[in-house]
Amino acid sequence: MKVLYVCTELYPLLKTGGLADVGAALPAALQAEGCEVRVLLPAFAAIAAGVRIEGDAMALPAMGGPEVARAPHPAPKILSGRVRATGQAVYLLDAPTLYQRPGGPYLDASGRDWPDNAERFALLGWAAARIGLGADPRWQPDVLHAHDWHAGLAPVYLQLLAGAGPRPGSVFTIHNLAYQGIFPRDALAPLGLPESLFTIDGYEYHGHLSFMKAGLQFADALTTVSPRYAQEITTPEQGCGLDGVLRQRAEQLSGILNGVDYTVWNPARDPLIGTPYDIDRMAGKAAAKQALQGLLGLELRPDALVFGAVSRLSEQKGFHLVPAVLDDLVARGGQLVVLGSGDAGIEAALREAANRHPGQAVLRVGYDEALAHRIIAGSDVLLVPSRFEPCGLTQLYALRYGTLPLVHGVGGLADTVVDSMPETLEHGSASGFVFHAFHTEALRQALHRAFALHQRPARWAGVQGHGMQLRFDWQVAAKAYCALYQRITATPGAACASVEPGPRQSF
Ligand code: ADP
Repeated sequence: MKVLYVCTELYPLLKTGGLADVGAALPAALQAEGCEVRVLLPAFAAIAAGVRIEGDAMALPAMGGPEVARAPHPAPKILSGRVRATGQAVYLLDAPTLYQRPGGPYLDASGRDWPDNAERFALLGWAAARIGLGADPRWQPDVLHAHDWHAGLAPVYLQLLAGAGPRPGSVFTIHNLAYQGIFPRDALAPLGLPESLFTIDGYEYHGHLSFMKAGLQFADALTTVSPRYAQEITTPEQGCGLDGVLRQRAEQLSGILNGVDYTVWNPARDPLIGTPYDIDRMAGKAAAKQALQGLLGLELRPDALVFGAVSRLSEQKGFHLVPAVLDDLVARGGQLVVLGSGDAGIEAALREAANRHPGQAVLRVGYDEALAHRIIAGSDVLLVPSRFEPCGLTQLYALRYGTLPLVHGVGGLADTVVDSMPETLEHGSASGFVFHAFHTEALRQALHRAFALHQRPARWAGVQGHGMQLRFDWQVAAKAYCALYQRITATPGAACASVEPGPRQSF
């Protein structure tokens, strides 16, 4: 089975969130299941720098209708190569005027969307479709697997370009439904997208073009990254305005839980923490805590219950609840370490709260891979109070590091953390703390329960040991994706929205 995996981030080359971790681990796991996977990515500078190019570039015709043909962009090229660090086979979509610029992959240096994002990511979908239909004479995929809104047009272009002819199957995976790629209607023509599909059953969303909705309507199969989130997004509360579409396509939608790359996240072999440890030699965890306290200027108190967090600080992640509980947390002898960046208001509120407790609470703003590992190793409890969470990865890393996750019981958090209650403690299945109502008081109660359990060291060690033994293996996920690929390649196009059967579109 040949799979073209289409995404925008790849750990360790370019990462803004979990999408990058998945992009690195899932293709490798699929390969171990016998798939042949190539990853298609925009040639952002950070990605290109980590790839060894092999062979000649393939020229692609310019995308879309006459407007784009006249645009000042040279025709894009596809470069084949391998990630230097891992050997993963990749295609780089080389269009320097679109992808080689300072700032982030989606936002400019001042945090605003790049104004040409519609064109930048439509090109990704379009290139994927071209490869899907044989642009590389040496390699044609059986399945095109597109990830998140950035790749949402791939299934549409695939159908438009294939017309009534044969085509690969398509899978669209939602990593976060809240980011949808919505653009004004006048983006259609430059992208070569027909007005005829600008309907409620196509890619129209309240008078705008939605890349996310395009992926949801035109892919043969839909997945998201946990079973619970797959259910939640079919409800008005969590459907981000697309729950109706998802209910209509419920038979094609499944939740496949993400895994952990235990070659990167393993306390026994983590070069980013000074003191390796594991379930049978936990002294290193106490040393990691002391090192973290020292590094960040916290009081060196072995008995302090250290709460850590590594997160984007967006509305989704729930950190606006934290300042209100900090006084209580510190009064009970706890400490708080937050690493993250994002919403200026949330950052300011956390900073203001942390400044009230010098030596007991600290906020580090920024993105820091090494510090992320040190926090996950050196904390006792990892806070993940997300309002919603498609899967969440940090709680899974925390479990492996003997750091008890304290989470809001939604999405993948609910699927992966078992609350410490009398029955689950008795039964040995408890792995952390879960709160259900999304407000400060519920968070506070969960914190109190963490302090209470910490007073009972044997119980605490039992929960910790159980969490460290759990495994969220990518092979389990890869097997589920392979089974899905088999199903859709048997009958591509059986269940998705389709463009009018007819002649191939000329692009
Ligand atoms: P999301 O993708 O919604 O941001 P996930 O929990 O799925 O959330 O994945 C987040 C990933 O990004 C994890 O690997 C986490 O360790 C990492 N991460 C988030 N913020 C930071 C940060 N400030 N510094 C380092 N790593 C971070």
